[in-house]
Amino acid sequence: MREIERVDLGLRLKKAEAHIQDLEHRIAGLAHLDSNTGLPNQARFLDRLDQAILQSTRQAQKVAVIVLDLDRFKRVNDLLGHPGGDDILRQVARRLEGSLRLGDTLAAMGGDRFMVLLPTLKEDLGAMKVGLKLLESLAAPFQAGGEELQLTASMGICLFPQDGMESTTLLSHAESAMYRAKERGGNRMECFTTTLNLVSMERQEMERCLKEAMQNGELQMFYQPQFHMDGRLSGAEALIRWNHPLLGCVPPTKFIPLAEESRLILPIGEWALREACKQMARWHTLSSIPLLLAVNVSAMQFTSGDWDACVVRALLDSGLDPSSLELELTESLIMRQGHEDVRPLVRLREIGTRIAIDDFGTGYSSLGYLQRLPITTLKLDQSFIAALQVEPPAVSSEHIVKAVVQLAHSLNLTVIAEGVETEGQRDMVEMLGCDGLQGFLLGRPLPADAFEAMLESMTQMAFLEGRRPDL
Ligand code: C2E
Ligand code: MG
Ligand code: MG
Repeated sequence: MREIERVDLGLRLKKAEAHIQDLEHRIAGLAHLDSNTGLPNQARFLDRLDQAILQSTRQAQKVAVIVLDLDRFKRVNDLLGHPGGDDILRQVARRLEGSLRLGDTLAAMGGDRFMVLLPTLKEDLGAMKVGLKLLESLAAPFQAGGEELQLTASMGICLFPQDGMESTTLLSHAESAMYRAKERGGNRMECFTTTLNLVSMERQEMERCLKEAMQNGELQMFYQPQFHMDGRLSGAEALIRWNHPLLGCVPPTKFIPLAEESRLILPIGEWALREACKQMARWHTLSSIPLLLAVNVSAMQFTSGDWDACVVRALLDSGLDPSSLELELTESLIMRQGHEDVRPLVRLREIGTRIAIDDFGTGYSSLGYLQRLPITTLKLDQSFIAALQVEPPAVSSEHIVKAVVQLAHSLNLTVIAEGVETEGQRDMVEMLGCDGLQGFLLGRPLPADAFEAMLESMTQMAFLEGRRPDL
């Protein structure tokens, strides 16, 4: 063989080798790709998740895994046949991809199920924000085979490290959260554990969220009606609600303690007070029923220097009469105060504002403060009322309520029973001498407009019955 032919053969052999290598790579690559959408498949997804876990451990960041399953996709296949269904899945993949950032991974799990990996999360809520974007990306109708289709998805989210330490565990936890979203009707996302709530959030994140809540108008006041013993409406307790766009309705018991820790309770409490006073002043112009407004006050507000001035400002700005406002302080708050300055309380009482002890009976045994402080009302804690009607009857509860009522009346205080849920409990608290009541039996906390509607119909009824509504 001539020298020149040998070189040529060698070159061709090299080329063939390179071609084979390339083919091998592509085949290996295809084994990691979903054939319909071209997205990474589950094996590659798990590889990337493993890498992300390693990295995030080093960088103290979080990782989120989202599993997304289209709702009732079988109907699409029935309507369009499998090729049409595949077409839709490719469109879904493109839309989902469009909602993600560089560095995130979208993968296909087979069928109508997708997985998303968010490898460098700074905050828990970030995962929910992306989840919301993914759901929104599917909102516009899809076109295939001359048909227009509307699709929704169910999504499950779980986070490393709090919901699992290994890739397969995380994936299966995200899947089980997704099934819960399906059970709840689809077109929604669920988190694997309830750890993705305010309590698990980093303090800073929570503070930012709460600040945003105030700015974005996510806080809302509800009003629970309060009644005289004969069933006439006597007033309303203002109860705060937080409607978070991702977390849903966060109850005050969850965020008030956190707001107290971060001192955000000061602006929040002031907002709540001002809002409720304004609302009640409006209701006074709409109805002749003399309504009392009860507002909860937390420890930190009470100890902040200009507390009484803040109350007076809210009253002046709203035009509400001070005697129509009752401030609710908890027993533990008062006891924590010890012998600290009670002058703000005294000053408020002097202008006519009423002062109630909330959840009375759950705090401390010393009752000395009842004489020391300018209190007007005791709100008997729900736990006593709940115990009034259990089987066998909790006799001691009956005695406690009776004793509290006697004590309160001897000090000229009004007693309100909280948490009255049954007719039996209402009869009992009436028999035991309570002056007023509040509870789910007669009315749940309502948004302002619903409370107003109820107030209007009660005012009307009182008018038709020919009595002055306050008599
Ligand atoms: P609270 O002041 O003792 O309010 C009564 C709570 O009992 C309310 O819960 C109310 O919805 C609930 N409730 C009323 N009737 C019944 C009943 O018949 N059965 C049962 N099981 N529950 C009943 P909510 O609204 O979740 O408020 C919880 C607590 O959060 C309040 O307890 C209060 O301490 C605090 N809170 C609410 N709003 C504010 C606010 O604006 N400022 C401050 N500082 N605290 C607030
Ligand atoms: Mg209260
Ligand atoms: Mg209470």
